[in-house]
Amino acid sequence: MNIIRILGSVTLACCSASLSTILYNYFHKEETEVLFFYGIVPICNLHHNIPTITLPIQNNECFECKVNIIIGYLNKAKITLDICMYMLNHELLANAIIGAYKRGVNVRLILNEDNSTSTWQIGNIGILKKIKKDKHKEYLMHHKFVIIDNKKVILGSMNWTKISVRANFENVFITNNNELVYSFSQEFQRLWKQFN
Ligand SMILES: [Zn+2]
Repeated sequence: MNIIRILGSVTLACCSASLSTILYNYFHKEETEVLFFYGIVPICNLHHNIPTITLPIQNNECFECKVNIIIGYLNKAKITLDICMYMLNHELLANAIIGAYKRGVNVRLILNEDNSTSTWQIGNIGILKKIKKDKHKEYLMHHKFVIIDNKKVILGSMNWTKISVRANFENVFITNNNELVYSFSQEFQRLWKQFN
């Protein structure tokens, strides 16, 4: 009898586990995207002719078009944008951050150093910004991740700089996986407290 009861409990636990997985998958469709930047620069005709203007996606291989995909995610931010970036001086990406702030998104920025006009501009308009202090000089704040509305995280090897986009081999990974987003949010909060 006991064995039947135990078997019953195990079956119920298994069923509820799979039911919760089914419900999770039903209500939370996992979306991921990976972008690779190649170092040797492929660029679409439109961006070849007008390299500084944000245009619709023209070509899957064009690095400027890939930047536009990242900008597309930033443009969808509604509530929060938490940015933790070793280096940030890409004008279009900085403009997308400023655009989010101007439409009411709560933007926070953590940098290793504040040494570019883009990040000064971001600070000057009132965006909250924290810089790793000199007392930790031997350690770099080398992260590159951005959390959008606590629902998506953009991460990978790439700093948001012109040289990284145009001339480096880089990867950028975008996901709405709950556990990953939660882990990066926790780490952002920890760093936000650590750096004054
Ligand atoms: Zn292009």
